[in-house]
Amino acid sequence: ACTDFDVAYFEAYAHIGIHEEMIKDHVRTEAYRDAVMQHQSFIQGRVVVDVGCGTGILSIFCAQAGAKRVYAVDASAIAVQAKEVVKANNLAETVIVLHGRVEDVEIDEQVDVIISEWMGYTLLYESMLGSVITARDRWLKHGGLILPCAATLYLAPITHPDRYNDSIDFWRNVYGIDMSAMLPVAKQCAFEEPCVETITGENVLTWPHVYDKQVKHVDCYTIQLNELESVSTRYKFQSMMRAPLHGFAFWFDVEFSGPANSSIITPSQSPLIGLSDDDPVDDIPSKKRTNPNEPLVLSTAPEDPPTHWQQTLIYLYDPIEVEQDQIIEGSVTLSQSKENRRFMNIHLQYSSGGRSFVKESVFR
Ligand code: SAH
Repeated sequence: ACTDFDVAYFEAYAHIGIHEEMIKDHVRTEAYRDAVMQHQSFIQGRVVVDVGCGTGILSIFCAQAGAKRVYAVDASAIAVQAKEVVKANNLAETVIVLHGRVEDVEIDEQVDVIISEWMGYTLLYESMLGSVITARDRWLKHGGLILPCAATLYLAPITHPDRYNDSIDFWRNVYGIDMSAMLPVAKQCAFEEPCVETITGENVLTWPHVYDKQVKHVDCYTIQLNELESVSTRYKFQSMMRAPLHGFAFWFDVEFSGPANSSIITPSQSPLIGLSDDDPVDDIPSKKRTNPNEPLVLSTAPEDPPTHWQQTLIYLYDPIEVEQDQIIEGSVTLSQSKENRRFMNIHLQYSSGGRSFVKESVFR
């Protein structure tokens, strides 16, 4: 059922700013456009549903790639503009905008392709993946294509002295005045909630892929709704350096590979991709290069070009000094909040150097 929380959620998506931010995120939007082009031969002549079409941009990419019909579904009032955009681009015959929730709208046929940009901060914040699952189970044909097809959430210990100095140590000496009394409040205000910020590879104490460790891998073809209520894992890292441990970072990537039977074409065969021979190929981040043998990946990792998702940081109230090779271990649980399933509780347990702590935070 549609709750008051959903109403507030869809109202947020009626504002232009949020769509502007997403569309201006070139890493994001071009990854989707490249993915549509990479799967053009599958999409051509086929039926697509765009779960949460927003301004209609992904639906239009699919129409341009030759889709026979695209159902562009959005429950937010932005669907009214999407309809106008589609009309202004002479695509009203192909792109059918449905203003409603994917859980409620009726589509009278099965579809070949589901495309959706559903990823929230920390991947699962917003809980929109559930709506993609619903669309899949309602309409996707056997052997159909889901874009993206998979997602992976990562966790890594980080050091961030600049941030800590800026927000916390700053109070130790303010115009020569000892304001240390402010420290507890400063820590709480700055670090109680998850922070969406950009870090770099230099902040990372050790890389999760070294340990082949992920918080969650989602296969969009098989994931079930009940798997998303709570996601839990244990982790164990060995610090690459001696540094204060200031907290943990989450980031994710998504993959756009096809179903086994899809034929894939290269950018040079595709009419829409702006890659001419003169384009400096080296300017394209390695992970985005459209190599038909390698699945296209949209990454929000600190070592990759920044996106509007940035990284999600959980800061410790008090840093822990770790030596090189010191073990940092514990567990993390992300769960949908009981008060509002769009909110996320993050339960982080961490131990290092013989001491153990727990940090609870809520992503609102
Ligand atoms: N596809 C667009 C917008 C992505 S933002 C783009 O890539 O730019 C996600 C959109 O999904 C929002 O506009 C939101 O209103 C919509 N949405 C989220 N859950 C939905 C649901 N259950 N039914 C319909 N629309 C939904």
